Amino acid sequence: MKSHLKPITRRKFLKTGIAGGFITATLPLWKLFSFSAPPSDFYVNPACNLSKETLEKLIKIALQRGGEFAEVYVEYTVSNNISLEEDKIHGALRGVDMGVGIRVLHGEKTGYAFSDDLTFDKLKQTAEVASLIASEKEVKNPVGLKSSKISSYYQVKVSPDSIVIQNKAKLLLKANSVGREYDKRINQVNVIFSDTNKKIIIANSDGIWVEDVQTLTNLHVNVNAIEDDKKSRGEAYKQGTLGYEHYDLKLAEELAKDAGRMAIAMLPAEDAPAGEYPIVLAKGDCGVFFHEAIGHSLESDGIRKKTSCFWDKKGEMIASLADDGTVPGAGGSINVDDEGTPGQKTVLIDKGKCINFLYDRLNAKLMNAKLTGNGRRASYQHYPIPRMTNTYLMAGEDDPEEIVKSVKKGIYVALIGGGSVSPTTGRFGFSVPEGYLIEDGKITNPLKGIRLMGNGPEVLENIVTIGHDLEILPGTSCMKSRQIMPISCGNPTLKVSKITIGGAKV
Ligand SMILES: [Zn+2]
Repeated sequence: MKSHLKPITRRKFLKTGIAGGFITATLPLWKLFSFSAPPSDFYVNPACNLSKETLEKLIKIALQRGGEFAEVYVEYTVSNNISLEEDKIHGALRGVDMGVGIRVLHGEKTGYAFSDDLTFDKLKQTAEVASLIASEKEVKNPVGLKSSKISSYYQVKVSPDSIVIQNKAKLLLKANSVGREYDKRINQVNVIFSDTNKKIIIANSDGIWVEDVQTLTNLHVNVNAIEDDKKSRGEAYKQGTLGYEHYDLKLAEELAKDAGRMAIAMLPAEDAPAGEYPIVLAKGDCGVFFHEAIGHSLESDGIRKKTSCFWDKKGEMIASLADDGTVPGAGGSINVDDEGTPGQKTVLIDKGKCINFLYDRLNAKLMNAKLTGNGRRASYQHYPIPRMTNTYLMAGEDDPEEIVKSVKKGIYVALIGGGSVSPTTGRFGFSVPEGYLIEDGKITNPLKGIRLMGNGPEVLENIVTIGHDLEILPGTSCMKSRQIMPISCGNPTLKVSKITIGGAKV
């Protein structure tokens, strides 16, 4: 297939990456984006086509001052984004970024340097800077690089980067028209389609050489509804390590209807009551709670520095929590983490007992633990730190309908929104964009202004029934140490015997 990208030379790509990276455009887009597919050598021959020999040389230079471990991380990323607002295609972005990050570990210390200039001289300087962390007489010899075979947990047949922008625009226009037609009270529809296509190479002094192509795709619909003085919003999206074959007009229609349904359902919402109530968390959409309120406190960097709360409760607890980078197509899934460790499933809490943490290489070494495949970084400009992948509360055995029926008066949380958690005390506050009253075992009136308050371990202790209907969301993102990472989370339907609700109605 013909492509306008093909004639772009390596240097030109570099310039695109360095000089601001993104192009912003308004209609007509097709003039800017007239290519139909990336060239076949797009990922095999990006500017980061550095040979094994070159990487071996760099590792050697990085170890020249006696560091214990050295690693080279090569990244080449193409990002696309198209958005619709106020009935029109509003903008389109395309960015190319690439670079190399070189890391040296020595004791508790990390030496890190990166470069987006990929000439050997500049990379040599980068390795030299990273090496400065150590000053030992004895210099370690790196193991020769050997390719590792990895399993694939992505569901990508058609790269979204190979799709002409007109086709992506059709999804946006479809979601817009369906959203607006859903109900005349819907007065605003915003839609975004984005895809990130990242090729990485990781090579280290233990002899690991691994390559991966990571695709993250998202179609996101937001709607607002208005009636007299009442306003509400709804959203729906599909995100994951997914190819374009998972996105079509039918999906755009479904997402628009789902966002519309939420906005219209929430339009008559009344102020939530304040006080202590039993709550039922809906499957899937409440997993972010466990990610934020529990998961972060099980990342090994916090554990090692003892800044997070963790516990070892024995007794009657039933909740179990896992982090799993191998869920097919999920947003947090990884064939390998950003240190070359294969993605894997780690049970963190087994029926209330904390049995493992999430490790990157540095913390695993310092804590004498096994790697769990959780060393992740946002880009070559960052060194890896322990991060979650797909984190979820594990399934129980109860019937989800019976769980709702068992509540006389309580709150049904259909979707958990943004929140804040203190890493030292575990105390949290979460908003609930979609929630309802439960009266005599039935879901009744929509409620607005629900705020869930408490602390993570206490909520785990108070989980009394867990459904068999575990659902893992397609994906979302998490910010830590100024690094944004794709993750996912999930949960089955479950009941918490009591939780404090901050609401407007006393
Ligand atoms: Zn997070």
